[in-house]
Amino acid sequence: MSSDDYHHRTVITRLTGLSGEDERLLLETIDEWRDACNLVVDLAWGVCETKSDVQDLAYEQVRDETELGSQHAVLACHGAGDAISSCNERLQSGKKASKPQFTARSITYDKRSMTVFHDREQVSLTTLGDYARVRADLVLPNDSDGYQYQFLDDEEWEYTESTLHYRGGDWYLHLGFRKPNADNDESATTNGTVLGVDLGVNQIAVTSTARFFSAGALTHARHEFEKTRNGLQKTGTQSAHRTLENRAGRERRHARHVLHVVANGIVEEALEYDCDGIVFEDLEGIRTRLPEAEWHSQWAFRTLTEFVEYKAETEGIFVETVEPQNTSKRCADCGFTHDGNRAGNEFECQSCGKRNHADYNAAKNVAKRYLRRGPQSSRRRGVSQYALKSGPRTPS
Ligand SMILES: [Zn+2]
Repeated sequence: MSSDDYHHRTVITRLTGLSGEDERLLLETIDEWRDACNLVVDLAWGVCETKSDVQDLAYEQVRDETELGSQHAVLACHGAGDAISSCNERLQSGKKASKPQFTARSITYDKRSMTVFHDREQVSLTTLGDYARVRADLVLPNDSDGYQYQFLDDEEWEYTESTLHYRGGDWYLHLGFRKPNADNDESATTNGTVLGVDLGVNQIAVTSTARFFSAGALTHARHEFEKTRNGLQKTGTQSAHRTLENRAGRERRHARHVLHVVANGIVEEALEYDCDGIVFEDLEGIRTRLPEAEWHSQWAFRTLTEFVEYKAETEGIFVETVEPQNTSKRCADCGFTHDGNRAGNEFECQSCGKRNHADYNAAKNVAKRYLRRGPQSSRRRGVSQYALKSGPRTPS
């Protein structure tokens, strides 16, 4: 589904209940956001053609030079990218346009950086860093006839990109809502396709089309970093500490770069197989399934799925998660579930005898699990099949 397949509405509310400290945090975030958008424009103006190009070019620098968390760093790339494209459109149609500049006291939020609590009529908003959030009350009309409730109380409308404005000492939230266009729902009733993705420690990602993404480059970077750290910790001086911080920063940038490449590859695969959506296991499930995965891997899984979500969104591909119940023990061909089916990277079904790479088998199960989930997700999306290659597959 492209973004044109949705109806869009905006609900304007005022926010109250913010403490002085909350307001300070939000204003700081807005200042940082403005700087980030202007930084992205400086980098991408005259250089980039698409939003995705802008993100590839500028994301790392935004993370390094501002205190924005990952979601806002991506949204700043997209916001600046949109501003650049509308300038280019004006120029192409012979109108005047100069390099965009961000000056307003406003900031974009989406459902990853903002949560709406419908029942409590509250919203929580990300500030600087990835985890600091503030909560505010939505000022809604007293009687439930207000047009706002039409969207807040209706499950068909989901909230999407929204803008927070600071004006005359007051906070206003322009809450964006969208709902799938009914005409498109019918035209795409039953032949949509999803790509299943399994996440793991050796292969960071494997798709249901048997594309393998090795975790090798990430693991190597981390081992190098740990070697340096152990050496430096023995010396324990100030300069050793600084060197360590530089190395940590470099490792983080490198890891994010590797994850960008993997995310691009997953989205390319979805495009190549004409998929409407990409399905992952939910991260909570991965924590249960891979208790041995270190914090570093958990960070990598979270970052990778975020990158895929953003890239997929610009391509009009949805991303959803499923609980990974037995995805690694279940045979994707006959459904037989048994602990003995899997030995390391090998999967051999104790019932039908099918053999395959264990992560590839799991990726197919992730997709199948999504298809079985029923009306509220797969059927509403018009998805009935998943992308796959037949026969046994191994990493190349
Ligand atoms: Zn089987």
